[in-house]
Amino acid sequence: MNRHEQLQALETDTIWDIIVIGGGATGLGTALDASLRGYKTLLVEGHDFAKGTSSRSTKLVHGGVRYLEQGNIKLVREALRERGYLLKNAPHLTSVQTFIIPVYSWWEKMFYGIGLKFYDLLSGKLSLGDTQILSKKETVSHLPSINTKKLSGGILYYDGQFNDSHLAIEIAATAIKKGATVINYCMATGFTKANGKITGIECLDVFSKKKYTLQTKVVVNATGVFTNAVVQMDDHTQHDLVRPSQGIHLVIDAKFFQGIDAMMIPKTDDGRVLFAVPWHDKVVLGTTDTPIEHISFEPKPLEEEIKFIIKHINRYCTTLITRADINSVYVGLRPLVKQKTQISSALISREHHLSVSPTGLITITGGKWTTYRKMAADAVDNAAFIVKLKKEKCITAQTKIGDVLEKENRIQEIINNDASLALKIHTKYPFTKAALVYAVKYEMAMSIEDILARRIRLLFLDARLAIQLAPMVASIIAPYLQKDKNWEAIEVASFTQLAEQYIYN
Ligand SMILES: Cc1cc2nc3c(=O)[nH]c(=O)nc-3n(C[C@H](O)[C@H](O)[C@H](O)COP(=O)(O)OP(=O)(O)OC[C@H]3O[C@@H](n4cnc5c(N)ncnc54)[C@H](O)[C@@H]3O)c2cc1C
Repeated sequence: MNRHEQLQALETDTIWDIIVIGGGATGLGTALDASLRGYKTLLVEGHDFAKGTSSRSTKLVHGGVRYLEQGNIKLVREALRERGYLLKNAPHLTSVQTFIIPVYSWWEKMFYGIGLKFYDLLSGKLSLGDTQILSKKETVSHLPSINTKKLSGGILYYDGQFNDSHLAIEIAATAIKKGATVINYCMATGFTKANGKITGIECLDVFSKKKYTLQTKVVVNATGVFTNAVVQMDDHTQHDLVRPSQGIHLVIDAKFFQGIDAMMIPKTDDGRVLFAVPWHDKVVLGTTDTPIEHISFEPKPLEEEIKFIIKHINRYCTTLITRADINSVYVGLRPLVKQKTQISSALISREHHLSVSPTGLITITGGKWTTYRKMAADAVDNAAFIVKLKKEKCITAQTKIGDVLEKENRIQEIINNDASLALKIHTKYPFTKAALVYAVKYEMAMSIEDILARRIRLLFLDARLAIQLAPMVASIIAPYLQKDKNWEAIEVASFTQLAEQYIYN
């Protein structure tokens, strides 16, 4: 994956079959699917891949136990099928995770026990393991930090876990291998039209400021929470399609939540679920669901959201946490599709939404990371149908994502050229200096942020350490990006300012 090479494709007079706007899960999945079907595909992402919601999830590959409780069996069944495909096609970026629901009465044990057995049943052949009903003693052995007061037992069930932004980047790399052109830091700024139909897009290379006008048969808008802006760029009279709802996560040290199992709190004070999930030797706590007015690339947590998570976790665990124990706070925005009637955002469907404007713009939004492949398939099916591309079958359910061996070989080659790059960036973490170079050379990382936030996840795991290591990261990557000391100083200052927002105490 080389950005310079990808940009070269914009210099030609190509008429693309499909241009995808947005390089999160949905857009990247769409680009991969379209390229696998042999369509000439371009994806433009205005920032870095997965800069938006797709790097800020709870990291669950799941059917959504909560939606089962809401009676949305179709959504759960579809998501469980997609969970199975994802675990099969990207085994190096996903894993099976056991979850325990602590229960406090006989009735709860029955209710959640039967519900989770049904959840497992719905996954059919793609089941990850049998749901088990646990005694109090067994529950405590799985969750050593659990508050045992009035505890009656627990339900153990299986779901998946993943590294969201890394998966996004490997989907991008796979799409490029299959023939797509995929570019980050390339913002779509307008459409060209003829006879009332979209014929192309205008876009801007964020670094060189060069503008491009590109021709295409069809455009897919996969811009998540930024959907409204692109829809209105097509037709300024259109009403907002999505409404943003914010979810925050706190990342804490594993000593506060011991063991290898995750915990699911089935009912918070606002009727949602809350997770504590082991992730990279830390624990992710989340999430919240707070409707907000303004969208931003770096949404900020609200004071009450932080208090809400701490309060609930401390209610269930004996190792009490305070704000000082938070290593990082990250925030994601859900692109929830607006309903005609006003209902709370926790109840709005996570099913995805596809629409086609009179100008031919296909907008795909909503859904979940877990269901990105299905969303992409729907988008490509519709795009191909509308502009009469040669009908081809979707094969993403059978397509492997990424190439572990190639990555290992490339990292080894980097180390062979400079043995000092075999060193870790910090003794507490497994990331080597060679991984930083790899991110620049092969994963289109353009900044300290791209590396520390989305290639290795240090900003999300330990924001203070990320700030401390920023100058070292800048000095390692600068020569590979042909940058000087001045760039390093500006980069460190801007990364520090951004990373300080992830520290909360
Ligand atoms: C708090 C939270 C927790 C979640 N947890 C989970 C979970 O555990 N499991 C799960 O399955 N799902 C989860 N989800 C849902 C999942 O993360 C989202 O559904 C998914 O990431 C949305 O991806 P997307 O590609 O549609 O949007 P995004 O990831 O936001 O991507 C849209 C992209 O479009 C780009 N863009 C915008 N405008 C332009 C333009 N003009 N030109 C070019 N590019 C543009 C943006 O830069 C952005 O990168 C969670 C969501 C939230 C908010």
